[in-house]
Parts: sequence; C-alpha cells; structure tokens
Amino acid sequence: MKRTIFTWLSAFVASCFAVSSSPLQAAEALKVSVFSTILTEIAGRVGGDAVNVTGHVPIGADPHDFEPRPSDLKKVSAADVVLLSAKHMEGYVGKLKEATGGKVQVLEVGDQLPTLWMKGAGHAHGPGQKHDKHDKHEEGEKVEDPHWWHSVESTQKAVRVVRDAFQKMRPEQKDFFAKNAEAYSAELSALLKWAKLKVAELPRDKRKLVTSHDALQYFAKEHGFTVYPVSGLTASEQPSSKQVAELLTTIRAQRVKAVFAEDTANPKVLTQITSETGAVLGGQLWVDGLGSGSASTYDGMVRHNVTTIVDALK
Ligand SMILES: [Zn+2]
Repeated sequence: MKRTIFTWLSAFVASCFAVSSSPLQAAEALKVSVFSTILTEIAGRVGGDAVNVTGHVPIGADPHDFEPRPSDLKKVSAADVVLLSAKHMEGYVGKLKEATGGKVQVLEVGDQLPTLWMKGAGHAHGPGQKHDKHDKHEEGEKVEDPHWWHSVESTQKAVRVVRDAFQKMRPEQKDFFAKNAEAYSAELSALLKWAKLKVAELPRDKRKLVTSHDALQYFAKEHGFTVYPVSGLTASEQPSSKQVAELLTTIRAQRVKAVFAEDTANPKVLTQITSETGAVLGGQLWVDGLGSGSASTYDGMVRHNVTTIVDALK
C-alpha cells in the first residue's frame, strides 16, 4: 500500500514538473478569431502553440463581399480576441461587436498602419462595393485604401501590432511571442529584399500597372510603380465608353506592355483593351488576400505577384 501511494505521488509530482517546465502549457491557448487570410498567417506565426486561430474568411473569397454567418458570430463570441484587416474592409464590424456584447477585444489591425487614399466611387470592387455600405461615400470622395498587405513593410508593422496584443493578454508568454515575431519579421525582410531585386530588373519607365481592381497602391509605393486602375469594372458593372477611351489613350501614350486581371473581378473589358492596344494580359494576381497553390502563404503570394508583374512588363 505504501509503495502504491509513493508511486502515485511521484507520478503526480513528475506531472507537475512536466507542466511547469513548459510555459506554453501553463495557460489555455488564446482563442483568436481572424477575418483576413493575411492576419490568419500572422496570428499563427506570432502565436505558435500559445494560440488557437480560427480563420473565418476562406481562401479565394472576396473579403469586400464577405458576411459572417451565425456560426462565425457564435465562434467570435467565445473568442479572446478578434483580428480585423480594417481600414473599412469589414463593413460588418458592428455585427461582430454586437455578437460579443462588447466583452471581446476587436482589434482593427490595419487602422494602426500607414494609409494611402483612393477615390470612393471609382474603386472597382466586387458586386455592390459592399465594404463601404456603412459609410456613404460621395462620388470622387477619398476613402482609405484597405489593401495594406501589398507593402511588406506594412505587413511587418502588422506583425508588431499582433505581437503587442498577444503580449498584453499573456504577459507571462511575452518572450515567446517576441521571439516568434522577430523570426517571422526576419523572413519578411528577406522577402522584401528579394522583391526589390526582382523589381530592379524592370527600368523605372516600365513600372506602370493597369489593373481591373485598384488594390496595388501600397505595392506601387514600395516599388516605384504608377497605377492606372480600370474604373467602374465589377462583375455587375461595366466602365463607361468614356472611361475605356481614356484608358486606351493612357496605355498607348505610356506604352504599357501588359495589363492585369485578378482573382475577383470581371476581365471582359481588359480583353477589349488588349485587343485594341496590343498590350497583353499579364496574368492573374492575388490582390485580396492569400491565394491557392504556391500563393497560399504570404511569402508565396508576394513572390507570385512580383514575378508575374515584372516578367509581364519587361
Ligand atoms: Zn480589394
């Protein structure tokens, strides 16, 4: 009997040591609900084993058009923190806050990053331009461009915002989050260095982007491109003949070699443009979040976009 108790006790003591020797198991994993494929990756890389990340917006879904389902709201109400891309990307933020009853921290990560501005009504988005439905914008009024992740430097800032939030919630795991964020940020520095070298293959006067979705301003700023968006082009809308005529003039005058469709907009007018100017369709870009295949990581998405753009415009 004595021996049995001793055995049981030593097993108990050993299991206590096993728990305390791993600070990651000391607390239950933070429940993180994320509404951006980019931030899903960031949260997972910074949080590691100490977080349990749920990505609510599927790969390939149009984030401008996304609406949370009742099952999403249920999950959000049980989360420790909600991460949003913001800069007005998520028109449903009120709905999320309502679902949590104000008890869960809703972190609008993009709002802590540098902002570029774009024309409200001219922005070619998915059906109905839903992401701005809570804010009525006048035609021509400037609105925040939500596509901050096309600047690698902004993505590094987002990593720090997420790290700070996790550290505040779990001070005892501060060093763990800091180490993860640092390692991930070093990878992003290497990625940016690679991107700059790749773009350097393209002379400055060839850095001109014609796209069906005005989502690449942050990329353009980081790498010295000029953007010529095709206005008014969505699945349900067509640009006016005047808009198309203006664009044809620009493409000819600027000697643009290629134009780009992307994953969520209607490429019909782009085809018209290519047949009338001799520019070629430059291939698909992933502009609204992570893509599929090799573009299913942030590193892969950036490499895909940069390579596609540079090789088409050379
Ligand atoms: Zn977009």
